[in-house]
This record gives sequence, C-alpha cells and structure tokens, in this order.
Amino acid sequence: MVTRADIGVLGGSGFYSLLDDAEEIELSTPYGPPSDVVTIGRIGSRSVAFIPRHGRDHRFPPHRIPYRANLWALRSLGVTQVLAPSAVGSLKAEYGPGAIVVPDQIVDRTSGRPQTYYDVSGAVHVSFADPYCPSGRAAAVATARSTGWGDVVDGGTLVVIEGPRFSSRAESQWFAANGWSIVGMTGYPESVLARELALCYTSLSLVTDHDAGVEAGQGVTHDEVLEFFARNVTRMRTLIAETVQALPTDRTCSCGSALDGIKLPFELP
Ligand SMILES: [Zn+2]
Repeated sequence: MVTRADIGVLGGSGFYSLLDDAEEIELSTPYGPPSDVVTIGRIGSRSVAFIPRHGRDHRFPPHRIPYRANLWALRSLGVTQVLAPSAVGSLKAEYGPGAIVVPDQIVDRTSGRPQTYYDVSGAVHVSFADPYCPSGRAAAVATARSTGWGDVVDGGTLVVIEGPRFSSRAESQWFAANGWSIVGMTGYPESVLARELALCYTSLSLVTDHDAGVEAGQGVTHDEVLEFFARNVTRMRTLIAETVQALPTDRTCSCGSALDGIKLPFELP
C-alpha cells in the first residue's frame, strides 16, 4: 500500500485511470479539505498523488478552488514536484488548438483569491521571478516532443484571469499586445502557493481555442472548450503519464530551497 507520494498531479477528472494500485485518502488541512479525496497510486516506478482541482463533480469553478488546501495536502503526503495540466486559450495566432505550451512566466490578473499561506504573522517574501521549475519544464517539453505531440511550445507567458467569464476582446488584445502567450483561470495562485511550500511546479497547458482578441468570430464558448478538452483527454493522459516518469528523481533545481533562511510563522507539513 502506498501512503506517500513524490509527485502531485492537479488535473481534470479524466485522469483517474492513470494510476495503478490506486488508494483514496480523505485529508483535512488548516485551509479546509482539498477539492476532493486524494488518489494515490503509481505510474511506472513513481508514486503519484492526484487531486482533481475542480472536484470530481466539477463543483469548484476556477475562482472557488481551494488552492491552499490542495497544495498543502500534496506537501503533507511528501510530494516535492507538482505537475499542473490545464486548458488555456491562445493569444497567438500561430498557437492553435492542440498546441501544448509549457510556460516559463506568469501574469496574475486574478483578484480576491487567497494567494498566500503567510498571512498570519510576520512577513514571508518568496522569490517568484521564475515561477516554474526549470527541471520540470525541461522534462515536460522533452517528453511532449518525444511522444510526437506535434505543436510543443517551450516557454511563454500565461495570463491568469479571475473568471469565470472569458476575456473581453479588448482585454485579450491588450494581453496579446504585451507579447503574452496564453490565458487560463487556474494557474494562479496555484503556482505561487507551490513556491511558498518549496514545491517544484510545472504547467502543461493545452490550447483549446484562440482567445477573443485573436479570432475573428464570436469568441470562446464553454461548450467549445469542454468538447475540445474531452477529445484530447486520452492524449493528455498519455502525456502526463510519460512526463511524470520523466521528472527527475533527484532535485537539482532551486525550488526546494525557496524558503531557506526565511523564518516561518508555522511548521510546514
Ligand atoms: Zn524544481
């Protein structure tokens, strides 16, 4: 029986069948329960904890996801590396539906979401200049390319909007004019909370459509996004499984030392 995990996957509910010898664990955290029971199992030789970030029945819209509980739960299980697949809109004409983007930068356009663990006493300022794990990114890009994915983009800026609505055309054009690449709703504060717990965090962003300012038509509809994602679930599942196995077994990145020399107001799990 596996009760701890090295790698965390925060994803959609289509990914349960990834795990062998799966076991479900109900966890509580100081931030409430995570989005759902955590499923722990194996992919190849790696132990993996899986949390569907929207809940199995999709009850949490992006702005209501218990991000702090999810990351805390993963760390309490021993997770050091987090893989975060998600659906995104593209801000660049050349990245069409089906492209995989592994961003290296992020712009936060969310508002009102709890985005730190350190809001009790004392100041804890983590570095967020490079929000993503360089080792995880390299593994994700190399794996997507080696599995013949097709359109794989190494780097780029993910803009995270508050949602649940999509961008207006003007917002979307403004994002694109800044040179930013993709738009999503869940990449923040997930990424910064991972950093605040000294976890490696890698985004695997699947482009489902062009954002409103990039396409000439009516803009994105929810049905289009869901339909596209459903058609790509099997491919994504394979890519996630391969990427999990390609993540380094020894951490040589600096993510694990994000809190070195900082006096924390409480003990981490
Ligand atoms: Zn790392």
